[in-house]
Amino acid sequence: MASKPTYGKLFTDVSEPVTKTGNKVTIIGVGAVGMACAFALLSEKQTNDLVLMDMDRNKLKGEMLDLQQGAAFLRNARIQESADDYSITRDSRIIIVTAGARQREGESRLALVQRNTDIFKSIIPKLMEYNKNPILIIVSNPVDILTYVAWKLSGLPVHKVIGTGTNLDTSRFKYLISQRLDIAPSSCHGWIIGEHGDNSVPVWSSVNVSGVRLTELNPKIGTKEDEEDWLSLHKEVVQSAYEIIKLKGYTSWAIGLSVCDIVSGIMRNTNNLYALSTLIKGFHCIQDEVFLSLPAAVGVDGISKVVNQKLTPSEVQQLQESARVIAEVQKGIQF
Ligand code: NAD
Repeated sequence: MASKPTYGKLFTDVSEPVTKTGNKVTIIGVGAVGMACAFALLSEKQTNDLVLMDMDRNKLKGEMLDLQQGAAFLRNARIQESADDYSITRDSRIIIVTAGARQREGESRLALVQRNTDIFKSIIPKLMEYNKNPILIIVSNPVDILTYVAWKLSGLPVHKVIGTGTNLDTSRFKYLISQRLDIAPSSCHGWIIGEHGDNSVPVWSSVNVSGVRLTELNPKIGTKEDEEDWLSLHKEVVQSAYEIIKLKGYTSWAIGLSVCDIVSGIMRNTNNLYALSTLIKGFHCIQDEVFLSLPAAVGVDGISKVVNQKLTPSEVQQLQESARVIAEVQKGIQF
């Protein structure tokens, strides 16, 4: 107390300080995506206990200080950082991994595989030293393969390793549908499943607005024969990332919001459904040990159930093809 005279005059300590909050979230990687996640989580008040890690010490410290100075507006959140001391992540409820190289202009997500696997090898085992039972949310690309990599490296049960998968693609899809129909994106019900990115599968057969399926109004919807060319919406979804990267260098806000929504499902144990990358073996006759997105409910323990969607033969075939291609790529990964 001698070193803190004012403190000593103001307070009489009555118990030991408690630092464990039970809602600790760690974000690995404070690039554009990591910081968009951090900002969304803090401003949506999903956590008041945030840890940031990144190998770029200056950026890390700068980002932490910038956020800390807004802490009074963020339910007095505690924000900590470390570049290399993984003990700071101890007892995280959720760990979000955004670290990695990002796509270069025109580069496919698959080309990033080994570069980002090597980064994961330097991160995931260290996280597991200090966290017995966390939920991992993988964002780094190629997200489906890296979720598999994180699952293998972590030894966690499969329901605790979640890839953000096509949740972002689905949100882009809903937005584009909403623009055509002039209603809110959240009132447009449609799913993009399978692989995040170029080979994602739009489930046209179940796109609906308040239960009215668009296939009933336009049986050719989503096909090349459709005169209204709804198919172009999916093409636009696929092109979105490339387009935004071309325009501003990276994508960030929508993925940050998507991650924040998934975190809210976990924190509040809602069983809300998201299009998430999970082990797809056993679904839709797929036998490959790969992760692809399906509508999945999320609660306090991670993924609690997966929806057995009624898909058309062509939708199933597209999923199976994605699984085959990914399994082939995974064979080449050096663990
Ligand atoms: P970025 O380059 O801005 O940030 C990546 C950060 O990771 C950097 O700050 C870098 O220093 C850090 N990093 C690299 N290796 C590290 C290590 N070993 N330990 C700690 N930190 C490390 O990239 P970004 O734009 O933030 O994108 C991050 C990732 O997210 C990319 O793989 C990108 O493709 C992916 N992404 C995924 C989605 C999705 O929907 N899943 C959407 C957008 C971006």
